[in-house]
Amino acid sequence: GKLAWPATAKTTPFRFSDVAGLEEPKAEVAEIVSFLKNPASFATVGARAPRGVLMVGPPGTGKTLLARALAGEAEVSFMAVSGSDFSAALVGVSKSRVARLFREARRKAPCILFIDELDSIGKKRAAGASAAEREYDTTLNQLLVEMDGFHGSDGVIVVGATNRVDVLDPALLRPGRFDRQVHVGLPDIAGRAAILAVHCAKRPLAEDVELRVIARGTPGFSGAELSNLVNEAAVLAARAGATTITAEHFAGAHKKLLMGLERRSLVLD
Ligand code: ATP
Repeated sequence: GKLAWPATAKTTPFRFSDVAGLEEPKAEVAEIVSFLKNPASFATVGARAPRGVLMVGPPGTGKTLLARALAGEAEVSFMAVSGSDFSAALVGVSKSRVARLFREARRKAPCILFIDELDSIGKKRAAGASAAEREYDTTLNQLLVEMDGFHGSDGVIVVGATNRVDVLDPALLRPGRFDRQVHVGLPDIAGRAAILAVHCAKRPLAEDVELRVIARGTPGFSGAELSNLVNEAAVLAARAGATTITAEHFAGAHKKLLMGLERRSLVLD
């Protein structure tokens, strides 16, 4: 039918198997994959095409990774921008930048358009706005206009990411905009073990390395921090001239990262 888009070249190699431990978020975005793969079946039964998804969760938990994997699974194009790129623009520029961005996304459709740090475009609007705030308003308004202008057949799905949904302008959350929320939280022990396994899969581990044990010793670590831990352990192994990464290298990396975290919190205090 006319809703069947031509297949496009894949633009991201990521798959759900690269995203560890986020079973619920993956199941939630799987519906969007099936829509992108077969929009006609949604149209047949009159189901509204998804337009916007909001990924909510702390930094480094895999929101960007999940958005990439969503595009990869559906085999559609992937475009990524950061909301902070817009807030820095000159008066009048960022509004037209938003328009251009959506034009580009439609041209690349079917397409996932990922907007990181959505809150830097879409914070709640305050009364008595300054010139800078009015500019910010026109950017947000343009985003709303673009999302309202979508039709199912456009084949563009906007995925926004934010650490905090409560600061967003409620207009963004209305039906037909970012009306689905996917919560991406810090991993539990099983999630941490799964994330470590993904990042260790292509690395030579010594027999004394037990990912369960490392997972138990890293409460509060995000996926990004776990990925960092594995990389630091590999760096220590390389510097020692070892051919495998041992439990001792992991212990050294863990210590180094924790010291870094402590220093960070001292600065914050
Ligand atoms: P931010 O809010 O800071 O943009 P984010 O939630 O978008 O962070 P990502 O950029 O997706 O986080 O994660 C950074 C990196 O951490 C990923 O590229 C990946 O290497 C690793 N990572 C994070 N979460 C996971 C996960 N669930 N499984 C595997 N790797 C992960």
